[in-house]
Amino acid sequence: MLSPSYRLLAATLLATGSLAAAGPVYVALWFDTEDYIEPASDDAALRIANNLSAEGIRATFKVVGEKARVLEQRGRRDVIRALSRHDIGYHSNWHSVHPTPSEYLVRLGYLEGADEFERREATGVDDVKRIFGKRPSCYGQPGSSWGPQTNLALRRLGIPVYLDEGQQVGINEQPFWYGGVLHVFQMGRNQFRARLNVGTEDPEAYSRFDEAVARLTAQGGGVISIYYHPNEFVTTEFWDGVNFAHGANPPREAWVKPRRRTPEDSERCYGVLRRFVHHMRTQPAIRFVTATELPGLFEGPVAAVGDRSAIAAQLKQHIVFGEIQGQMMSPAEMLLALLQVKPQVVDGPTARGVTTYAPASIPAAAFRHTVADASGFVDGFHRLPNEVFVGAETLSLADFAATLAGSAEGGDEVQVLRGNIDYERFFASDGRKPFNWVIHPAGFDGTPLLDLGRLQGWTLKPATLRKATATRSLN
Ligand SMILES: [Zn+2]
Repeated sequence: MLSPSYRLLAATLLATGSLAAAGPVYVALWFDTEDYIEPASDDAALRIANNLSAEGIRATFKVVGEKARVLEQRGRRDVIRALSRHDIGYHSNWHSVHPTPSEYLVRLGYLEGADEFERREATGVDDVKRIFGKRPSCYGQPGSSWGPQTNLALRRLGIPVYLDEGQQVGINEQPFWYGGVLHVFQMGRNQFRARLNVGTEDPEAYSRFDEAVARLTAQGGGVISIYYHPNEFVTTEFWDGVNFAHGANPPREAWVKPRRRTPEDSERCYGVLRRFVHHMRTQPAIRFVTATELPGLFEGPVAAVGDRSAIAAQLKQHIVFGEIQGQMMSPAEMLLALLQVKPQVVDGPTARGVTTYAPASIPAAAFRHTVADASGFVDGFHRLPNEVFVGAETLSLADFAATLAGSAEGGDEVQVLRGNIDYERFFASDGRKPFNWVIHPAGFDGTPLLDLGRLQGWTLKPATLRKATATRSLN
């Protein structure tokens, strides 16, 4: 007897007339392990980690630096050992002690923000690595405390994956490359959970799961993202909300503990997760994946150079990621290909450049200087320039890219073309709502972070599941 979702899937495949589209569905199950105030949360993490190990499932535990240190101080080798059998990520050094990442990044530029993130967070990364015996495989921001400068810092810290949820940036509810870091973020219909507070189980989550599996299978495969916090299983309120709300920053001796669930209620919560996992297991084609495994499922962040004339045709028309001869390329990669700079991960510009160059065309010889100058900048700094010079005047990066794309036609004069930036629709436009978190000061405005983040849209592209993986899983 086929389950309803499989009948739906079969119908979908028949309708599209192709079985080739069927693809693997991966489930990333992750736990933000952050409460360093209520010791019962240590036991919750232990219990969840052991339960999953007993089921043969590896999850990703994103650990806060202070949580790791507190586990060590409390002598909880049992918790550290149990979590170490799973994947270990990083969830910031202090989570909700102010300033949180958005708070300390909001008035900093791209480069100084990356330096500051590294200064504040590297010690936490080192502590997690020392205590758990492995480098964190991923990072995710506390609450909605997001900033684009993080990408550069994460690359320097050797953390290749951003695993979290948020509204600042996203592509089609699936993983994407951004700033050279693989993001599982803004997953929409592919991010949900069995709710802990609706009874002994949450059958609605089972339907959502089956629907997501059928839909993703039919569209060639994809990722489902599911997360919890161990503390939720033992407390009825969040450990940080009761201490650090709206910018409050009491000293450690004044920290209070969140209200506890009764032992019976905690048992019920563990049961909800256990039943949900058992339901997920009824879908034979899904595979649980950790953050460590995620990059291996996708084509990497750097595509091989495709046909330059196809790239130029695309970039001249609009500046957004696109498929060139079967390879997904970001606008930054397309620009590097036209500049004949070796393919590599680069950052986007750090500010919005302007075009001051007024004539309709540039003498070809002068433009060759401009192109050589731009290539030198990218090769030297591993990021895109804000603007490029034509003598004393400038072209914004977008206008330069379009003009370069159009210059292939040759001649003594290169026509100046206006760049049509088309990736900004993948970013939030409202500076407040995506940063609305009870810990941030009331009305916190992340507009500067979104502005900076949008500039990095040059590096944005969907992550493409590796074909070999897709083929194998059809068996
Ligand atoms: Zn958190």
